Amino acid sequence: MAYDYDDQNIFARILRGEIPNSTVAENDYALAFRDISPKAPTHVLVIPKGRYVSFDDFAANASPEEITGFMRLCAQVAQAEGVSLDGGAGFRAITNAGPDGVQEVPHFHLHIMGGRMMGPMVMLRD
Ligand code: 5GP
Repeated sequence: MAYDYDDQNIFARILRGEIPNSTVAENDYALAFRDISPKAPTHVLVIPKGRYVSFDDFAANASPEEITGFMRLCAQVAQAEGVSLDGGAGFRAITNAGPDGVQEVPHFHLHIMGGRMMGPMVMLRD
């Protein structure tokens, strides 16, 4: 399956070091950094280092090592931010995909948000 990856998207530029970011954690396969416009006391974005447009692209095409590296970094972030159920009060992890998902940046990212009660799962607006 072919996904059309834009090498000029803002997260590709962050990965290349062209734009600064507030890094929380990193491994060989993924980078975690603070959202520039946080919607909760903890709002961290976890992105793969590979060129994946969206969750479905990553899920279909990433290697087992990339998927494991990404997921382990998510767990590390939740723990480090104090929102993991292993000692914390929980969090919300969401990913938006494509136009209907209202994805702003076309490089797969998971939002990890917590540090407060996150409210209803989805509030639709027209
Ligand atoms: P999306 O709508 O694609 O799921 O979320 C994109 C997220 O990226 C938004 O929450 C937005 O605040 C964040 N964002 C956009 N540009 C930048 C940036 O240059 N740096 C950081 N750290 N976050 C960004």
